[in-house]
Amino acid sequence: MRSKYKKSLAIRTSGFDIPRPVKTFEDCGFSSQLMAAIKKQDYQKPTPIQCAALPIVLSGRDIIGIAKTGSGKTATFVLPMIVHIMDQPDLQKEEGPIGAICASTRELVHQIYLRVQKICEITWDTCLCCIWWNFKELKVGCEIVVATPGKLIDMLKMKALTMLRATYLVLDEADRMFDLGFEPQIRSIVGQIRPDQHTLLFSATMPRKVEKLAREILSDPIRVTVGEVG
Ligand code: ADP
Ligand code: MG
Repeated sequence: MRSKYKKSLAIRTSGFDIPRPVKTFEDCGFSSQLMAAIKKQDYQKPTPIQCAALPIVLSGRDIIGIAKTGSGKTATFVLPMIVHIMDQPDLQKEEGPIGAICASTRELVHQIYLRVQKICEITWDTCLCCIWWNFKELKVGCEIVVATPGKLIDMLKMKALTMLRATYLVLDEADRMFDLGFEPQIRSIVGQIRPDQHTLLFSATMPRKVEKLAREILSDPIRVTVGEVG
């Protein structure tokens, strides 16, 4: 008999018209360039959050992704972001990033930046990722920017950056951003971005305040929760 206390990894998905989960990265229909980047990372198969969330994000739907730290949430937003960027016509001609990734602290921003950079290496000539403190690169122009909400607002105020082209917004570790009081900045960023943006919110936990914000700023999202249940 199965022990009452045995833990299993549960994936719960809710929302309308949920795309089917994938079993392999090949199922995602990634380009050979992206498949090479995934191979280089030595990722053999998608993690549970990636299996459920990648097809949702790739289909263009907004998502709330809840899974603990270390579950592989970064690739869930970075890989589809690169697909989205590579799909844009006249990539080099317009100004401002297409993708913006916000995280709570300088350290986290730096970690995400390094991960995005690794995946982008292979698409480097067309897809450049910048971190907010690298003003030189920001000036040259980039497709992805990674920053804390506060610094993103500062850059917009200083006109170091425009969000005219941004259509893909990631709020990573949303619970921690809330703990640090970034709610007004997040709302301001959402207010300055195009209304047709694709928004992805990831969090390790889902306190009521984050839930409320998600309901207000996401459009018809699908919610994926990966967690241990007793
Ligand atoms: P989270 O954002 O959920 O905390 P990360 O995206 O930082 O998790 O990933 C945690 C670790 O797992 C990283 O070292 C990352 O390279 C690794 N990882 C992510 N996806 C996979 C995968 N499909 N296969 C193997 N390792 C992976
Ligand atoms: Mg993370």
